[in-house]
Amino acid sequence: MKQEDPAQLWSVCLSELRGMMPAQTFATWFERTKGHDVTPDKFTIEVPNPFSGERMLKRFHDKISQVVTTHLGRQVSIDYHIFEGNSQIVPVLTDLPSYGPPGPDREGQAAQAGQEQQAGDVEETDILYDNYTFENFVVGECNDFAHAASLAVVKSPGQQTFNPLVIYGGVGLGKTHLAQAIAHESKQLGTVDRVRYVTSEIFYSEFIESIQEKKTKEFAQTYRNVDLLIVDDIQFFCKGHKDRTQEEFFHTFDVLRQKGKQIVLTSDRIPKELSGLEERLVSRFEWGLLADMKPPDYETREAILHKKADKDGLSLSPDVIAYIADRVASNIRELEGAVLSLLAYASLSHCDITIEVAKRVLSNKIRRKQRAAGIEDIQKAVARHYDVSVEDLAAKTRKKHVVTARQIAMFLCRDMTRSSLKDIGAIFGKRDHTTVIHACQTIKKLLLNDEHLQDDLDKIRNSLL
Ligand code: ADP
Ligand code: MG
Repeated sequence: MKQEDPAQLWSVCLSELRGMMPAQTFATWFERTKGHDVTPDKFTIEVPNPFSGERMLKRFHDKISQVVTTHLGRQVSIDYHIFEGNSQIVPVLTDLPSYGPPGPDREGQAAQAGQEQQAGDVEETDILYDNYTFENFVVGECNDFAHAASLAVVKSPGQQTFNPLVIYGGVGLGKTHLAQAIAHESKQLGTVDRVRYVTSEIFYSEFIESIQEKKTKEFAQTYRNVDLLIVDDIQFFCKGHKDRTQEEFFHTFDVLRQKGKQIVLTSDRIPKELSGLEERLVSRFEWGLLADMKPPDYETREAILHKKADKDGLSLSPDVIAYIADRVASNIRELEGAVLSLLAYASLSHCDITIEVAKRVLSNKIRRKQRAAGIEDIQKAVARHYDVSVEDLAAKTRKKHVVTARQIAMFLCRDMTRSSLKDIGAIFGKRDHTTVIHACQTIKKLLLNDEHLQDDLDKIRNSLL
């Protein structure tokens, strides 16, 4: 398929990257770049000069890698080359890891990157993506609480009940989007003056840099003099030995909260499950409001697909939307990836996206997802979680804990697959479809009041990603 044309691939990636940073930043660093070559495991990007290449590496590598991976549907390493004359290509530097969760190696690199940063380079740490706004955020059952809490923080920052606001949930569910929407909206409405948005990785690397340069006082001042501090992905504080960073963050937190300044944090899980996080931080993070983000339900998936397609000027028929919403269930980033792949195809082939075209273009993404969220996988995951056997789930037994596990499994099958009530009933011991309806209603009702159940469901869902 033509998608592997490096120029086309890069132009689709660029259209996504453009929305992820201020227009000026994009123009400065990306306008003179080109997709040069794509192989099964490597994508080569042409950059105009060594300075630009180094910047790409230090500053945008993760984003580029993430976007390229989404579009190719596989992980590749990214190389940056300078094109000299007609043929000679000079690599800039090739040994950075490709995109992935932070690990021990990257912690060292983060520290080094911090070292090399220029003092006072505010934009470096303060990048907000233009399109991560409330306006572009689709609200559904899966995220309405976190959304409402975020709006409340914008309206009345620093209120004890919302301070800190901790938004937590799995990968690609919209935590960064929401956290940045808070920053945008607060600035726009003027409810706060000084906003600082950083990832915990940047907080860490700036802190290390300040130690090395003997500027810890300045560091503390920078962070303690803001009205709204947003730290994204605090789970990074737990990796490796970051005792001093945690301590520094602890003091920053206390000073800000005492001054009535607002703190917003995001995390991939609920703070008490962040092993490696100091107890006093865990307890402080629970002082305010914990808001979880869940995987999107079917209606939200549809709404997101509509919104993304509209935004990109792509016309998708209801059956194509339903096809994607059915099969890409776990993660909003993947939904976006599907729309962008279709967009790339449509712009290359100039043909309409029929259901057949969508099936073909998305085949590698969908096949993976279908496997991940099949009924049998759900049964296995639920059985494992509740320590019952898969056979029990289909058997006649009425033992209470088995009945609950069975109902949860039915509920998840209904939510995560497009199997009919009849098919689900049949697989669960030839039960009638009304039993499945009853199970789904029971679990929905329980979910209204039972936080533990919600946590259980999140864990099972995450284990299926
Ligand atoms: P996380 O930080 O939880 O890993 P992100 O905030 O990076 O997830 O979201 C992944 C992608 O999905 C982003 O491009 C974001 O704009 C998009 N996204 C997430 N949630 C929503 C939503 N509710 N409505 C529209 N787009 C969303
Ligand atoms: Mg994020």
